[in-house]
Order: sequence, then C-alpha cells, then structure tokens
Amino acid sequence: MPNLILYNGKIHTQDPNFRRVTAVATRGKRILAVGSDADVRALTGSHTEQIDLGGRRVLPGLSDSHFHYYDWALNRQHLDLAKAASLADVRAQIAIATAKLPSGSWIIGQGWNETRWPVPQLITCADLDDLTPANPAILWRSDMHLAVANTHALRAANINAETPDPPQGVIDRDASGQPSGVMRELAINLVREVIPPPTEDETVAAIRDGFTELHRLGLTGVHDFRIMGGADGPPAFRAYQRLQAAGELALRMWMLLPGEHLSQAIELGLRTGFGDDNLRVGHVKFFSDGGQGARTAWMLDPYEDIASCGMPLTPMDEIAEAISRAHTAGLAVAIHAIGDRANQELVTVFEQVLSSEKSAAPSAPHRIEHLQNIRPEDVLRLGRLGVVGSVQPIHVPDDYPMIDRSVGQRGQWSYPFRGLLAAGVPLAFGSDCPVADPNPLLGIHAAVTRQMRDGTPSGGWYPNQRLSVAEAIWGFTMGAALVCGREAELGSITPGKLADLVVLDGDIFEIEPMEIAQTQVDMTIFDGQVVFGD
Ligand SMILES: [Zn+2]
Repeated sequence: MPNLILYNGKIHTQDPNFRRVTAVATRGKRILAVGSDADVRALTGSHTEQIDLGGRRVLPGLSDSHFHYYDWALNRQHLDLAKAASLADVRAQIAIATAKLPSGSWIIGQGWNETRWPVPQLITCADLDDLTPANPAILWRSDMHLAVANTHALRAANINAETPDPPQGVIDRDASGQPSGVMRELAINLVREVIPPPTEDETVAAIRDGFTELHRLGLTGVHDFRIMGGADGPPAFRAYQRLQAAGELALRMWMLLPGEHLSQAIELGLRTGFGDDNLRVGHVKFFSDGGQGARTAWMLDPYEDIASCGMPLTPMDEIAEAISRAHTAGLAVAIHAIGDRANQELVTVFEQVLSSEKSAAPSAPHRIEHLQNIRPEDVLRLGRLGVVGSVQPIHVPDDYPMIDRSVGQRGQWSYPFRGLLAAGVPLAFGSDCPVADPNPLLGIHAAVTRQMRDGTPSGGWYPNQRLSVAEAIWGFTMGAALVCGREAELGSITPGKLADLVVLDGDIFEIEPMEIAQTQVDMTIFDGQVVFGD
C-alpha cells in the first residue's frame, strides 16, 4: 500500500519504459508504481496521502555533481550584509545576530559597501562596540580588501596603538593613534588568524541547515568536493556520519577524497561506493592544471593575451601513476582538467589505464572535472572510454567573455556539450558552488540557451553546442547517478528506485527557454518524504 500518491501531473520519468505518466506512488523510501491517474490511484489504501499536482511538471530529484558543500554551508552562517542600505541597517543585523549567539562566539559578516549609503562612511569599531559587549566581530567589505573589527576582535588579535602595520597591510588609526577597527589588505589576516575553526557541533548545525536550502532548490543529491586540500574533509565527513546516524542526512551525499590521501585510502581498503543509501565514499580528486581566468589552464596553443600556454599543476606521469594505482584498488578518480592540452594528455592516460587493467574496475566510472576546453579529435577519443564529463553549464554565461578574451576563436571548443554527447561522453552537471549559484534551474537554463539571464549574447554563445531541456535534466539526474555507479537506484522515476522527486511551478519543457531561470521548485521529496513545499 502506498504512503504517498502524486497524481494529475506531467511526470518526466526519464525512463523510456514509462513515457505517458501522470501519477506516481511511493512506499517507504522507494517508488512503488508509475502510470495513469486511474491505475495508480487504484492502489490507494487507508493510510495513503494523495496530492493533486494540478498539472504541474515532476522531475526526478536533482543532483549537483560538483559542489563544495562544507565551504558553502559554513559561509551561509555568516551575516550577509550586501543588502544593507545604511550603517543603521548593518547595526540592526548585528543586533539580531548578537541576540542569537552565546557570549564569546564570533560574529562574522561580509558584503557591506558604504558607497551605496546616504552617508558613505567606513564602519569603525565604535559603530559596533555598544552592540557587541561580549562577542568579537569582523565584517568584510564587499571587495574583501577591507574589514572592520570590533574592540573584542582587536584585543583577541593583540592589536593596539603600538602594533606596527604588517607588510602589505594597513591598520587604520584615529586621531589619538588608537586602531579604528578598519583593517586593509593583509592586516585583515591578523584578525582572521585568531578566529577559531567551527566546533563539531557548529559544523553539524551548518551542514544540516544547508539541506533545507538545497531542498528549496530541488536538490536531493550532492557530490562534495574539498576546497582546502584535506583540511575540510575530516570535519565534513564526521558531520555527515553524525547526521546519518541521527537519521538527518537528507541528501544523497557522494564524498570525494583528496588525491594526496590516495595511499591511505588504498591502505585502508576503501573502495569507491562504500557506504549506504545516503552517504558514500566517492572518487579520489586530482588536479592536472589550473584555471582559465588565471591563464594557468594548460593549453595546446598560447593564450591570446599572454605569451604562455599555462602549465600542468601535477606532472602527467604522476597523474598516470596515481590513476593506475587507484583503478587497480577499486577507487575511481576525478581529475580537474580545464585546458585542451591537459584534457588531451588525460585522454591518453585513460586510454592506457583502461586498456591494460580490466580486472579490478571500480564500481563507478572515472570522471574529468570541468572538461572545459577539448579539441574535437579528443572528444571522439574520450567518447570511446566511458569516462564521464563532469561539467558546469552555469559557467558558460558567467565566463564566456573571459573565454573570448583568453582564447579567441578557440572558444568554439569550450564547453562543447553537444559534441561530447554526440561522441558518447556521459555528462554529469554541477555548479561548482560556491563558485557559482547552486540553483540547478540556472544550470539547465545555461545549457539550453548558452545565454546570460538578460539574453546576451543573442542566439546564444556557440549555439551549436546548446542542449535540449531533456538532455540538460539528464545531466542533473541520470548523469549524476551514473557517475556514482548508482543508475540502478537513482536518476529516474522508476518503480523500485529511491523516491527522490521534484515538482516545479512551471513546465520547463513548454515555457520559453529564457523563463527556465525564473522557474521555482514547489515541492521536493527525498526518500519518500516531502522535505520542502506542500
Ligand atoms: Zn570546484
């Protein structure tokens, strides 16, 4: 007997066996049945809850395949002062934050910009001290080159009238020579260094809090990447395990491991895929090159604006050796590769590893992260390997002017989503949040239009690489499941699979593609439970 029946909907099952579907039933954590309203509602029992979708569109739960969850979740806890329209607004937010915090806890904020205020004056510690009698506070200006600390924070950092300015930094002082609280450039680090790392309880609370926000966006799964090498991995992994033990881990969390710990992972006998329905050990992450904005992505030909081809971040023979060792031990790898030279070399490495060692293959395919620039001939080679392209469509509208500047006409080989799919490369979509907005509908919009939200460039940037709505949804659902080796239990609305579903307020198959970016999630179901919306 079903717990829940959704009917009178347009259900994109993403399962070719179930095309004309208006209703879905769940029992426990799983999908029990799909079909017509009449067929599915005939299963109704005395404890079945029914929801009339009123014709709305339903998708499989969305997954983000490249997310820096720990960083994002902890940063969300900080005060966002970007909308403050005056010093009084900032003070009001500080007063609210102080009331919620135990004494001694740090108040951390960011985003204020006094140039937009009626009185364009920098904040000083005097503006904060009366509101923060028991809490140290630091508030970054929107440009991050300046921050104001209150007196508690200055004291914690041992900053007083005698403290000299550090190299490349300035401590602003008032007429009597006392620090004003304003710190510029590297002087900010004097305070930053004394902010204690979050406690385990604070980490758990921040991570739990993030689930609610992601459910609001329709996300039911995240592939979690490390930003700070290994430093953020242990606290994040511990927090996920605590939440899972408490029955509160409300995302399919795929936990990547940092490449520098490959040997330990092998020695411990960890294999990709170890874990349960909600928390699993994922890929081992390596970097082959840098980024295109910094011109450190490794290109076949020099950049247009500097006489350089970028560089490999790790020598390719070291990467090849690591991939081979990981593969043999049952660990799948995720390799960051942005430049077309890095991707070409990587395809060669994968060709060698995958042809010579077929025995102990990991339970999930290997993946290339970003796969941002790749020549058509290498796309074809990659298509024969089963290696997944983990790409972030939202970077297209965010970055194409930078790509045009840095590689000119070679931009035709940047983000070649259509070419990759045509060659048989499965694509898993993500956002790289907090580098970009985590809203997956913005990612779908970007993949479908290759335009900014204001419509530029008209017709789309290299529009021959645009995808259909169905292909873009696939990247956020089945592609994300496939790259974890979980396509049998996630990624489509198929009886027997885990019941992760999203209801949208607009039908993204029918509306103008530009409107996809404004589409909202009405309801998110995770593990058969309504976790957001009606
Ligand atoms: Zn990233």
